[in-house]
Amino acid sequence: MSELVARDRRHVWHPYAGPVASPLFAVESAQGVRLRLEDGRELIDGMSSWWSAIHGYRHPHIEEAVKQQLERLPHVMFGGLTHEPAVRLCERLAAQSPGGLERVFLSDSGSVAVEIALKLALQVWQARGRPQRRRILALRGGYHGDTFGAMAVCDPVTGMHGLFAGTLASQLFAERPARRFDEACEAADFADLRRLFAEHADELAAVIVEPIVQGAGGMWFYSPEYLREIRRLCDDSGVLLVADEIATGFGRTGRYFACEHAGIAPDVLCVGKALTGGTLTLAATLASAEVCRVIGEGQPGVFMHGPTFMGNALACAAANASLDLLDSGAWSEQVAGIERGLEAGLAACRGLPAVADVRVLGAIGVVELREPVDMERVAPAFVAQGIWIRPFGRLVYTMPPYGIDSDDLRRLTDGIRTVVASLD
Ligand SMILES: *Cc1c(COP(=O)(O)O)cnc(C)c1O
Repeated sequence: MSELVARDRRHVWHPYAGPVASPLFAVESAQGVRLRLEDGRELIDGMSSWWSAIHGYRHPHIEEAVKQQLERLPHVMFGGLTHEPAVRLCERLAAQSPGGLERVFLSDSGSVAVEIALKLALQVWQARGRPQRRRILALRGGYHGDTFGAMAVCDPVTGMHGLFAGTLASQLFAERPARRFDEACEAADFADLRRLFAEHADELAAVIVEPIVQGAGGMWFYSPEYLREIRRLCDDSGVLLVADEIATGFGRTGRYFACEHAGIAPDVLCVGKALTGGTLTLAATLASAEVCRVIGEGQPGVFMHGPTFMGNALACAAANASLDLLDSGAWSEQVAGIERGLEAGLAACRGLPAVADVRVLGAIGVVELREPVDMERVAPAFVAQGIWIRPFGRLVYTMPPYGIDSDDLRRLTDGIRTVVASLD
């Protein structure tokens, strides 16, 4: 064990880990699509640091933007003050959002962006004089973050509802959409949704969904028709639609926003993860003109939220630089190329004894296993293949940086297949 890992084990707590994390690898540096470990080994990054590093590591355009901002203004409180990087970022996000959402509320992380979206929905119904409309409808198999409001709309079984029973808000859940991305829906597929809308019409404030791709709740890609039906039901009942595009935003699914696969626009949109290209922590919640109008005209007339590091200027500069890179449009061809490479490279996993399903959408590849993986065993096996893959439960999945070349992509899929083939 390296000295750094030994020190880590004494004082550091890692995500979804016991007090002492295992297995653990020390990273010395990263460049492009490669992570360099302390012992000199290089790994091809298959995770983009949880969807965020879409341009790879240390992109010069993002680094330059952050350096320049550091010399001018790293951070200033956002209450009563503003600055150019934040204004420009909010203008750009609003202009690019599906449906042209009007206003942007910046925050530090995806979970907080979801809390803000839920609070917006509740304040809308309070301002409308209907405070009893305060429940949220979510989908089974969904994931929206780890804070209390967000946890309450995560899948009630695989989420942490059992652990925190009695402390989470009681929300409503529709069945996980059954039809795959390329499948058509039938009336029966909407029955559960329609029943929930009908039975809870008086108490429903908003629906929250991850459009098309359910991420950490199960890596499931569902039919755009299902998303269109949710939009239609929301329109009929005045219920707000919150799209959580924290994982899917900025091209990952093959469209700039996953909502575009269904041609719909939400009333509230959450983005995060890839917003700064993985450089700094930043998230945003966008609201429609109508949401802003209702909250502004109602009581108390202000939106009750304000993070200390709201609108951090370094993070806004990184986000503007990341959006510059996306503006070139090259991501679209890159993601399409990764989709073809993942299809070809992961096809060989179909039919392996340990494999239940293989699916690919955009630059996301998933190998669903029959049994949960033993992390102590598979994590070092992926590293031995020269790739960085971090499975959870029964899901081995990859979403590499957009700039990965075909050789590295093949090494990634070959490594996945080799490790999955070694499982019984
Ligand atoms: C990661 C994620 C979140 C939470 O974001 P954090 O930055 O980890 O708080 C919320 N929703 C979705 C869909 C996510 O993938």
